[in-house]
Amino acid sequence: MAVVMMAMCPQLSWALSGSGTSSSHYKIANASDWTSFCSSCSTSSSSPSYADITGSFSTSTMLGNDKFRYAIIDGGGNTITISVTNTSSDYSGLCKEFGGQISNLIVAGTVSSSKKYACGVIGHVNNLATTLTNVICTVNITFTGSGDSSCGPMVGKVDDDVTMNNCGYIGTIKGNSNSYNVSGFIAYRSGNTVACTNCYSAATFSSWQSNSGNYAFMRNSGSSTTYTRCYYLNKPTGGTVDSGVTQTTSAKVSSAELCYNLNGSTGGGTSFYQNIDQGTKDSYPMPFSTHNKVYYSYTTHGATSQAYSNYNYPSSHIYYNTLTSNTWSNTSTPVSCKVAMKYTCSTCGATANETLTPTCNTTAATCVNDGSYDYTATSTTY
Ligand SMILES: [Zn+2]
Repeated sequence: MAVVMMAMCPQLSWALSGSGTSSSHYKIANASDWTSFCSSCSTSSSSPSYADITGSFSTSTMLGNDKFRYAIIDGGGNTITISVTNTSSDYSGLCKEFGGQISNLIVAGTVSSSKKYACGVIGHVNNLATTLTNVICTVNITFTGSGDSSCGPMVGKVDDDVTMNNCGYIGTIKGNSNSYNVSGFIAYRSGNTVACTNCYSAATFSSWQSNSGNYAFMRNSGSSTTYTRCYYLNKPTGGTVDSGVTQTTSAKVSSAELCYNLNGSTGGGTSFYQNIDQGTKDSYPMPFSTHNKVYYSYTTHGATSQAYSNYNYPSSHIYYNTLTSNTWSNTSTPVSCKVAMKYTCSTCGATANETLTPTCNTTAATCVNDGSYDYTATSTTY
């Protein structure tokens, strides 16, 4: 029957596919699906909905705008671009009030709010331990209120345990001259534990009041917070650098040195990837294996020092004169013999040609390619 209906009504908008259970995930391919999901998503912290994002789309609908929603969401590497303006209540972001898991997702777009906890990904975590894995947020956030903004890009208020692995923020967080309490990663740990591993904040802070309640990473970290390989680019004006986070630089962000650091300073790590000299260049680390692994390598033939690269050339390149071709010529007086050498690099396969003048065994007047010459092959290191 459903097949017949579909054939008769191709324009009809169908309900979200899947039932949201662990064996039948909701499939969210577009903004219409997302809106349906926002009203279908579980409100029980003991039985979160399961959902897979199967396409990239734009939306202005926040999950959990009406009440707390609980879900296990796999973004599939897709991008949700949000456009949120919230002047009526605290907590803004792709998810307003949320508990559960989000993985493999890019959240882009803009959030503007005059209320506290203007965020990119989750405004408020409560009632369920929450994990973000492989989540990149590039949302530009604007706080238009005054005083305590409690503004932070990844999560706003932490009221249940939060674990973040391989997550990053790249964007601008804008306030105004009488607003403060802004953080570069998580806004505020109200209670519970926070554990961040392989995370970075490349936040740019704009127009905030200088205040010691501004934090590079998270306000109120305390002893219940664990940072492992966590990096920040900028500290908001007058603010505090959290104990346990390490400063990086714009150059390190773009060169993939930060990526390398996030992988434990090991070549070929699989927490973060970044296209540097293969594929379309990435300006910051990405936690997706569709991008290329990063090494500290002799990046090109002729390189005399190592750099961050998608090529894995751990040692200097060496040309070997394998004599893959040779020609002899009898040139004008005085007669000399020439042999054309073709060198091949055993590391990268690069080739180079060179014409040598060996000592001929033949008499000068009759120099021919008789296969006999006295040139001794050696390896050439660059
Ligand atoms: Zn080479």
